[in-house]
Amino acid sequence: MRYGFIGLGNLGGHLAASLLREGFDLTVHDLNQEAARNLIERGARWAQSPKDLATAVDAVITCLPSPAASAKVLTADNGVLNGLRAGGVWIEMSTTDQNEVHRIAALADARGIATLEAPVTGGVHRAAAGEITVLVGGDHTVYEKHLPALEAMGGSIFYMGELGNACVLKVITNMLAFIHLVAAGEALMLAKRAGLDLAQVFAAIKASSGTSFVHETESQLILNGSYNIGFTMDLACKDLGFASRYGRELGVPLELGGLTEQIFRRACAQYGGGAWSTQVVKLLEDALHTDLRAPGFPAVLESEEK
Ligand code: NAD
Repeated sequence: MRYGFIGLGNLGGHLAASLLREGFDLTVHDLNQEAARNLIERGARWAQSPKDLATAVDAVITCLPSPAASAKVLTADNGVLNGLRAGGVWIEMSTTDQNEVHRIAALADARGIATLEAPVTGGVHRAAAGEITVLVGGDHTVYEKHLPALEAMGGSIFYMGELGNACVLKVITNMLAFIHLVAAGEALMLAKRAGLDLAQVFAAIKASSGTSFVHETESQLILNGSYNIGFTMDLACKDLGFASRYGRELGVPLELGGLTEQIFRRACAQYGGGAWSTQVVKLLEDALHTDLRAPGFPAVLESEEK
């Protein structure tokens, strides 16, 4: 099975590297050729356009920043759908809009191309280790055929049923994570203003009923001052926008989700769309002229040290 991978950014670069590590035949493409350099050095082939890539492979994986980028890569004249043969497969690993996945999948289907969605969750450190969680939607037979590739990139893999289901679940888990991030920032600030030792506070919360995956990973990056989670403010706002829309469409009041979206939009305006999403807690740090640094706190995620 020959795979193509388009979108070699903070996340996609690690996913593509996992495929190479596990011995998959890989062709890659990105708007920025420099993003492919490490992969090419390790044996990946470069394709000049999405169409060129698609003509050379059996399945194309995309990991792109927005529904507009996915639409362009798939449906433009030099796009994937004009290159993949009938019987080929498009695997969408971007966090994206359920309606767009259905729309493009229908165009693909008309050409005999199957679609799987496989958005991921867990962060770039898990992607780097090949342990990120993968949520999959689409035809079960197609899923089973591509399971070895998904297992090369991921740890836990959840088959969610029909196409579109994984898109929604992915946004739900991110909404939860962003709520947890804002909450972790408030908790750490309260502790700082109370004069507590933040390194000790981090460890105690981690061992308490108030802990969360976000605290255990992202709080470390806040305390060490790097904020470098490999996930931008733009992407967070995109995901919270999808969550709000699903809330409206499904008649579910998302009071915490809505508030969190507004907090992120303010942070995005203040620090820029390319700022790390963890910098949302800087709103509080700047408002109170109080930072959340913990002297001597490790500069890398505990999980990266393994
Ligand atoms: P990123 O912005 O770091 O990378 C996106 C890559 O896509 C860039 O290299 C860019 O050059 C490329 N690209 C954009 N438009 C293109 C086009 N038209 N043709 C070819 N290449 C193009 O984004 P990321 O952090 O890697 O995230 C990618 C997707 O994965 C997003 O949908 C994001 O929401 C999702 N995601 C990210 C993370 C994370 O931790 N970073 C985690 C889970 C899901």
